[in-house]
Amino acid sequence: MMRDHRPGSPSALHDRNRASVVEALRARGSLAQADLARETGLSAATVSTIVRALAEEGLVDVANGPGRRRIVDLAGSVGYTVGIDYGYRHITVAVSARTRDLLCELRSPVDPRISAPGGLAVARRLVRDALDRAGIGRDEVVGAGMGLPVPVSRSTGRVGLDGILPSWTGIDAAALASEVLDLPVAVSVDNDANLGALAELRWGAAIGASDVVYLAMSEGLGAGIVLGGRVYSGSAGTAGEIGHVRVDGAGRSCRCGRRGCLETVASAQALATTLRQFLGEAPTVAKAVDLARLGDLDCRDALEAVGRYAGAALADACNLLNPELIVVGGEMAQAAHIVVPIMQRTIARQAIPGAAQSVRVRACKLGQRAHVLGAIALAAANVETSPVFDS
Ligand SMILES: [Zn+2]
Repeated sequence: MMRDHRPGSPSALHDRNRASVVEALRARGSLAQADLARETGLSAATVSTIVRALAEEGLVDVANGPGRRRIVDLAGSVGYTVGIDYGYRHITVAVSARTRDLLCELRSPVDPRISAPGGLAVARRLVRDALDRAGIGRDEVVGAGMGLPVPVSRSTGRVGLDGILPSWTGIDAAALASEVLDLPVAVSVDNDANLGALAELRWGAAIGASDVVYLAMSEGLGAGIVLGGRVYSGSAGTAGEIGHVRVDGAGRSCRCGRRGCLETVASAQALATTLRQFLGEAPTVAKAVDLARLGDLDCRDALEAVGRYAGAALADACNLLNPELIVVGGEMAQAAHIVVPIMQRTIARQAIPGAAQSVRVRACKLGQRAHVLGAIALAAANVETSPVFDS
């Protein structure tokens, strides 16, 4: 039977509705089916019919999210993306077909003092190895993203002053990465905590949420802030630098030049510094959690203090931003069963009641892989010309 595509015909209306569903998914990435109806102004029944048809054609993926919500996303069928997590002591590279399923992931240690071009040369070797192992040609790469543990200005592209990697200060990170990596596409760069937030939003603990604070608690301590479903980075890229919120005026001096910052008491490094005096060596978070489970009171106290200090700073963040969800990521996520309940209690005591009652704190779902997945999501978003960011 011939379909009637004249304007105003039922079939033209169907095509238009279907296009608006696809357009909403392109613009917002994954969406709960209920939000898809709100976003497009279509009825729930119409959206349900269209999504079922798109899924049968393999154009969208449907998954079950929290609260039995159905989460819809465009199927990752077009081209491959490369994600790079350029960390403080490591570089991780991953290749994916724009989904959270990685085709290859490789990791190499790196000296924090290495020059930016030197570090990127390591990344280039890893990217080439990863593409080779996944059997993908350079020319099949349609997007590339990279996370850095430093503030990156979205207007100038340059790395800010306040980073943990001094050799990157002032560098146009995307331009240099694009030049050194020599892929057929430009490399997009953002702060790693922002990318962790993006990954948890798209594939992890924050699916379907729109106002989220993601805490990256590893060597340093930063946050990625999602407002209205988009990552907010601020005028110079320093939004979310919660690690330098002052929580103890007489406390340890911080690498930022001030004293008593949250990072000096609640990062994985701070935990190691605290416990070194009791244990004689600096433990990893996993080791401290093991010892606490075996009854070591110093380890338990130190982990609980991390939860209290971070909870106090988060209470202020709740008063300012009123998020619905706080996601604890980074190395400290391994201590989530200890620190998360304390954060939640501290927020309940210290934030205004309306903000405290509307927020849940939970552990990340993507673990240490959140940053590299965020780099994949950034690359995919550029391919989809999706406004996942605030500008
Ligand atoms: Zn500081």
